[in-house]
Amino acid sequence: MANRHRKSLVLRNVKSSVKALTILLLALSVIGIAYANLIGEKKEILIPVTGANKNSWDSKSFWHSPWGKSKVHKGIDIFATRKSLVISPINGLIISAGYSENGGNYVYVLDAKLRTYYFAHLNRQEKSSFSFIKKGQRIGLVGNSGNAISSPPHLHFSIFSLFPIIKNYSRKEKFTWMKMFYLDPVKSFKTT
Ligand SMILES: [Zn+2]
Repeated sequence: MANRHRKSLVLRNVKSSVKALTILLLALSVIGIAYANLIGEKKEILIPVTGANKNSWDSKSFWHSPWGKSKVHKGIDIFATRKSLVISPINGLIISAGYSENGGNYVYVLDAKLRTYYFAHLNRQEKSSFSFIKKGQRIGLVGNSGNAISSPPHLHFSIFSLFPIIKNYSRKEKFTWMKMFYLDPVKSFKTT
C-alpha cells in the first residue's frame, strides 16, 4: 500500500514538473517570437566582404527556387576576387567554425538578436568555435570551397532567426513557413 502511495506521489510530481516545463517553454517561445517580430528587419549590418557593393550579388537570388540540392537559396552569393577579406557584419559569438561537404570552410555567428549568420565557401576561416567577434573583425577569406568548387569565388551568406518573423510568411512563395526563419541579407545591409 505504502509503495503504491509513494509511486503515485512520484507520478504526481513528475506530472507537475512536466506541466511547469511546458508552461516555461511556451512562455519562452512567446517572448522569443514577440522579440523577433518587434526588432524585425532593419538596414543595420555591414556587408561582410570588404570592397563589395550592390553589384557584387544578384538581389533576386534570395529565396530563389529551385536551387540545386538545397531546393531554395536561403541567402545570397557575394562575388569577389579570391582571398578578399570576409568580415563580421555584427558583434557576436562564433558558435561553429569548420568544414562541411556543402559549405566548405564555414563559420556560424550568433548575435544578441538571436540570429545566426552563416558564411560559406571560404578559402580559409580564421576563427574557432566559441570565441567572440566584433563588428568589422575579419572572419576569413573568400573562396569556393565545398560544393562551390566549380563556381567562381564567392561568399554564401545567410541570416537565420531562431524565432519566426511572421510578416515574412508568404503564401505566394515556396517553403512558406521556412521563409519566416530567414532574413533577406540585401534588406539588412546598411547602405551608406
Ligand atoms: Zn549561395
